[in-house]
Amino acid sequence: MSTTKDFETKQFPTWCPGCGNYGIWTALKNSLVEQGYKPHEVAVVFGIGCSGNMASFLNVYGFHGLHGRVIPVATAIKLCNHKLKVIAVSGDGDGYSIGLGHLIHAIRRNIDITYIVHNNQIYGLTKGQTSPTSEKGFTSKSTPFGSIEDPIDPIALAIDVGASFVARGFTGNIDHLTRLISAGIQHQGFSLIDVLQPCVTFNHLNTFHWFYDRIYELEKTKYQPNDKSVAWLKAREWPTDELIDESAKTKIPIGLFYKDDKETYWNQLSQLKDQALVDQPINDIDISELMKKLS
Ligand code: SF4
Repeated sequence: MSTTKDFETKQFPTWCPGCGNYGIWTALKNSLVEQGYKPHEVAVVFGIGCSGNMASFLNVYGFHGLHGRVIPVATAIKLCNHKLKVIAVSGDGDGYSIGLGHLIHAIRRNIDITYIVHNNQIYGLTKGQTSPTSEKGFTSKSTPFGSIEDPIDPIALAIDVGASFVARGFTGNIDHLTRLISAGIQHQGFSLIDVLQPCVTFNHLNTFHWFYDRIYELEKTKYQPNDKSVAWLKAREWPTDELIDESAKTKIPIGLFYKDDKETYWNQLSQLKDQALVDQPINDIDISELMKKLS
């Protein structure tokens, strides 16, 4: 039986005190322990950003990749060894900007990985620029007069392009987030877990208190995550106009928005169905004809 200590390295996190990243790190470790995983049974791919620094603090098979390229690496690992539990960790600046195209194609293919996105609505590592999920009107070093762009809604987008598991968590509710991560890991197929994660140093709008005032759990309502149209409308419950009207306090749902059962990618490949690629005796494959063609 593993413990959370087994999933920690000797290096203590260097995130700013109070950063929302700590809650995600804790929830992920809790989830892996509760499900009985051992560190060598899990591969986690990290991108660039404060979220990616978790690569140094989580004791698993880890890969700290290029900016925005978390999903291609996670996909390759899964297809090479689908017995491994593969998790991808990214941030809103990493995953919803340069990495957005990969998200859509992984959803389309239903690659069996869990994608946890630290969504703090700002670029934290580069000291506070407007990100793809920053509110319209948001002021930062890159938009001193307020952003004129509409933010991406990752939940609505994922539902729209056919994701089979779409959830939103909040790092201020670790028990709830742990349950969501566990459900995402157990899901057979692509699971997106967008996590609202305040950047206490650079985002002074979307703070812990801002979220505590607005968040509610879907599981405590009569909501059922099995209707795509209803899920999309639920995803659009977001305080888009509050920079203009501070008193609006539109509520923000967290929890599982949508779940569907679809065939996973590797399960549809006859070459992989019965045996993981890493276990196949590739030395027995005759490639001489292929080599002749290439020479
Ligand atoms: Fe966390 Fe923001 Fe500090 Fe990065 S800059 S560690 S996101 S508080």
